[in-house]
Amino acid sequence: MENNCLYICVPCYKEEEVLPETAKRLKAKVASLMDAGKIALDSKVVFINDGSTDRTWEIICRLHEEDKLFCGINLSRNRGHQNALLAGLMTAKEYADMIISMDADLQDDIDAVDAMVDRYLEGYDVVYGVRSSRETDTFFKRFTAEAFYKFMKMMGADVVFNHADYRLMSKRALEGLSEFTEVNLFLRGLVPQVGFKSTSVTYERHERFAGESKYPLKKMLAFALEGITSFSVKPIRLVTMLGLTIAAISVLFLIWSIVVKVTGNSVDGWSSLMASIWLMGGLQIFCIGMIGEYVGKIYMETKQRPRYIIEQFLHD
Ligand code: UDP
Ligand code: MG
Repeated sequence: MENNCLYICVPCYKEEEVLPETAKRLKAKVASLMDAGKIALDSKVVFINDGSTDRTWEIICRLHEEDKLFCGINLSRNRGHQNALLAGLMTAKEYADMIISMDADLQDDIDAVDAMVDRYLEGYDVVYGVRSSRETDTFFKRFTAEAFYKFMKMMGADVVFNHADYRLMSKRALEGLSEFTEVNLFLRGLVPQVGFKSTSVTYERHERFAGESKYPLKKMLAFALEGITSFSVKPIRLVTMLGLTIAAISVLFLIWSIVVKVTGNSVDGWSSLMASIWLMGGLQIFCIGMIGEYVGKIYMETKQRPRYIIEQFLHD
């Protein structure tokens, strides 16, 4: 067979409620692609258990027993979505020609898989899944998520708008990705850096059919900060500009106070003094924090810690 072995990688964290249904739907999808002769018969679905504390791994083991289409990777502990996904991609690239990553909740329409495979067969190395609308998300989720992409762009991190981690990558694109050794992982920022011919397919995003989001606001904010500080030094530059601007303004104030003194209208400016002390104090702490973010990143990178550890790999 030519190069059309497909592996679908699905990171799972506490997904016992959705896994059986997800497996069923993925199996039907893969079977229809095999029937159409678009993908090789040894294509597989890989579930990566990201240190779940519920029955997720048991379910994956059972699925593997019942049907060799399903494979499983058990991580030694919870490492977060991005690391779990990377573990899956790096393991699967040894076997597959093309790999699609998607979430376990199937919020991303699996029918887009057909279009992705078609694009791959046409010769694209990277195919981004892009959401056409977010109508089924709550207003809050939609608003925060869209603000996230806009903010990322403003801050100089180049990401594909409304694209999450639903994408197809070819084997050689993944070989490229494996050359990036950074510990602070932000895959959707990294993939465009790999290069190769890319395109996108659009799809509708659905509601989670069971279970709840593992990305509450707190994690989303942490993720946004991760994305920005991993991909751009713009915030540091902004801090520098801020410092310069404030310094310039303070010179104007100095001139003004001298003028006031000379003209004899000297006032006991206690309140303005207090206000400026607080303003400056706040700004300084903020700027130090901003720089600290980067120093922290450097610290983490220098340690060169493994990004994931695989405890068990079910595959045959
Ligand atoms: N996930 C993971 N590790 C984590 C958190 C989430 O592997 O620590 C997986 C989760 O099982 C799902 C995907 O990442 O397959 C996306 O999570 P979720 O659907 O909760 O995020 P949302 O769609 O709400 O942004
Ligand atoms: Mg989801």
